[in-house]
Amino acid sequence: GPGNGRPQLGKRRLGVMGGTFDPIHHGHLVAASEVAAAFHLDEVVFVPTGQPWQKSHRSVSPAEDRYLMTVIATAENPQFSVSRIDIDRGGPTYTVDTLRDLRALNPDTDLFFITGADALAQILTWRDSEELISLAHFIGVTRPGHHLNDPGLPEGGVSLVEVPALAISSTDCRARVANGDPIWYLVPDGVVRYIDKRELYRGE
Ligand code: ATP
Ligand code: MG
Repeated sequence: GPGNGRPQLGKRRLGVMGGTFDPIHHGHLVAASEVAAAFHLDEVVFVPTGQPWQKSHRSVSPAEDRYLMTVIATAENPQFSVSRIDIDRGGPTYTVDTLRDLRALNPDTDLFFITGADALAQILTWRDSEELISLAHFIGVTRPGHHLNDPGLPEGGVSLVEVPALAISSTDCRARVANGDPIWYLVPDGVVRYIDKRELYRGE
């Protein structure tokens, strides 16, 4: 708003990076950074998902641990922030709720939802997909092992972006910790230390 020193040229542009972040890794960070540059975003907000209340096929780490790892990983970048909205809402996260809430909290802002090729392929199966695409512009990024293509959104609803290929997944990071293999350089150093301190993923 007025007085913040930022020139008021058009609307603010906010990237939204949703994920379980169990743990956050360099694939997430590179995707956000590349899209921020390519789309001239003012900020990217990382939104860790809420805790699934149903017993899912695997137990997701506590929300506070996933939130803190996301804060640790993004703290040094002035363009990155972390939101608790999905964690504090409770229950399973639906992206339509995330985007509705971010819309309400950020007037005069265009939202850009960043998603990897695997998640983009699911998009039309998500709840309220019609409303979803009215709330944000969708940006699909390349991810090793997945085909990136337009999932059939209305014209102009999605952009596809090639980002440096990082064959890293949270699933693989968890398996590595459980096996006693290193995760240095796959996740930020502070996240390695946090996982060790909290003894996450050891018994999986
Ligand atoms: P898991 O293995 O637990 O599913 P993940 O590595 O897929 O974890 P998520 O938290 O599920 O991480 O992903 C959040 C978002 O980041 C998704 O849109 C996903 O497609 C994207 N993403 C994750 N890893 C990469 C990567 N290496 N390159 C590009 N996009 C990625
Ligand atoms: Mg995933």
